[in-house]
Amino acid sequence: MTAPALSPTLALACELINRPSVTPLDEGCQALMMARLGAAGFALEPMHIEEVENFWARRDGGTGEGPVLCFAGHTDVVPTGPHEAWQSPPFAATIDDAGMLRGRGAADMKGSLAAMLVAVERFVADHPRHRGAIAFLITSDEEGPALHGTQAVVERLRARGERLDWCIVGEPSSSAALGDTVKNGRRGSLGATLTVRGKQGHVAYPQLAKNPIHLAAPALAELAAEHWDDGNAFFPPTSFQISNIKAGTGATNVIPGELQVLFNFRFSTESTVEGLQQRAAAILDRHGLDWQIDWALSGLPFLTEPGALLDAVSASIRAVTGRETTPSTSGGTSDGRFIATLGTQVVELGPLNATIHQVDERILASDLELLTEIYYQTLVRLLAC
Ligand SMILES: [Zn+2]
Repeated sequence: MTAPALSPTLALACELINRPSVTPLDEGCQALMMARLGAAGFALEPMHIEEVENFWARRDGGTGEGPVLCFAGHTDVVPTGPHEAWQSPPFAATIDDAGMLRGRGAADMKGSLAAMLVAVERFVADHPRHRGAIAFLITSDEEGPALHGTQAVVERLRARGERLDWCIVGEPSSSAALGDTVKNGRRGSLGATLTVRGKQGHVAYPQLAKNPIHLAAPALAELAAEHWDDGNAFFPPTSFQISNIKAGTGATNVIPGELQVLFNFRFSTESTVEGLQQRAAAILDRHGLDWQIDWALSGLPFLTEPGALLDAVSASIRAVTGRETTPSTSGGTSDGRFIATLGTQVVELGPLNATIHQVDERILASDLELLTEIYYQTLVRLLAC
């Protein structure tokens, strides 16, 4: 970038985007953030866990006990795919004629990292003796397996009794306009690998075989049509989706011996893991199948009910953009689910998610200025003395 007058947020966002930190690499993003936070009076704690770079940073305002507000996010990005497909190189941030900041991570979520860091620098300069404490929890493994990232850091914080009252995660939560949506929870995710056993045979002699496709089809139809729950004021109804189905040898004259189905529940707080497992099993049993399931729970649902954090975030969005924000629990899982296990109120607030994980990822550069202001005002509402 050679543009003369980049704002502090845009300059930092560009610096971060220019580091090709494809998950789980960090490529110096965290060192850059830590240097700035150290200068702003934060105590820094790098947490290198296995191959993953993480850090925890905390600044106490010096007014004694008080609430802790944590900013959380990730420096890793998803792969770019072929660079030729991009209008501009993914790891050379640029602002185009339409005012869009382009580059991998612009939306998810280096733009937010820059906005939260600059907002905190400003806040600390304006309110050096703020209430309570400000913290950062940053990982380079959110887009990957996420085993040694936020989850592992949270376990260390839990072990030493670290308290987190509020957490703002910078995930791109907005859908049509900045701040129109914040995430105040997420559905749970329960995956399954179902195997249905039959008996292999010749298609011309079905009486000597047992076709697992034919046997399983009505059960799968029933699973797909099942009404799992109604959801509630905060969650849409639980959904069931089959993502893969596999059977057959490739030959046209062989009845396969086995069928494998991958499916996933995105579930609300109205359903439990055990309840969903039992109901799925009952349907499979009712169809007389010889079946087996390997379950994989990737996250329990969590919810932040209206309270101080959601109020402060909503009021700041209204003051900066004039918009009323909608709290939502839709979308995929996020690291918020790990942080919420500390009893923390968690809200995700970030830029538009329209181009995340896509070729030509981009956001309105001016939205990052607004996002910085929203984070700043949220800090003022929660921690100014
Ligand atoms: Zn993300």
